[in-house]
Amino acid sequence: PPPGPPVLVVRDLSVRFGQVAALSSVDIAVPEHGILGVIGPNGAGKSTLVDAISGFLPQAQGEVELGGGPLTGPPTRRARSGLRRTFQQDRVPPGLTVEAYVRFVARRRLATREIADALEFFGCPPARTPLSRVDVGARRLVEVVGHLLARPRILLLDEPAAGLPHEEHVAFGERLRRVPARFGVSLLLIEHDLDLVRSVCDTITVLDFGQVLATGPQAEVLADPAVLKAYMGE
Ligand code: ADP
Ligand code: MG
Repeated sequence: PPPGPPVLVVRDLSVRFGQVAALSSVDIAVPEHGILGVIGPNGAGKSTLVDAISGFLPQAQGEVELGGGPLTGPPTRRARSGLRRTFQQDRVPPGLTVEAYVRFVARRRLATREIADALEFFGCPPARTPLSRVDVGARRLVEVVGHLLARPRILLLDEPAAGLPHEEHVAFGERLRRVPARFGVSLLLIEHDLDLVRSVCDTITVLDFGQVLATGPQAEVLADPAVLKAYMGE
């Protein structure tokens, strides 16, 4: 894809929890219709980054821009501006079918056909399946389908493959790579599985102790000795 201006830009973002500096002056940029991978050891600040960008941390300092304009205010307002996010833990209301959950997440009118096609694209269980019979990993994919069908400009994914059996990660990565073109969206992908990140992301930002340790093309970043050292420390 042609390198245009980034759709999401974060500048000088800092978040404190009391004495803990969870993020310190973080800069990131997500290419339009691209996928930025955000990696880093446990506690590096990845989920905090998603929380701050999506408006869940009012104490966050710094600037967030979406499509060239400032993105501010509470999560509902940011969602209306075209930003969506998933949570590391899934939050499923009881008693729904797969289709009803997609509608619940998307919060907009959707054709049954559109839902069925998107579920099939992601290899999800059929629309009529009760969610109670769907594994946690697949349930999180259903949630992703709901967000994508809301047609956001950008979707922040916080470890979407975490509940999936490892042997399903390759297929998930192949689907994810096709998401920007199919849904007209950009993605920020937080992911623990480096093979998945390698297969999906052109650019990667590495967080360590709340700071950007490295950022750039994936081959460069994943070969950076400082990055390898941060991972071996886990
Ligand atoms: P990651 O997602 O990279 O594993 P987090 O963003 O969850 O890391 O956490 C970053 C740091 O901020 C950690 O030291 C964590 O303990 C701390 N932290 C995260 N959320 C809170 C919170 N609500 N209150 C206090 N400390 C928090
Ligand atoms: Mg996290």
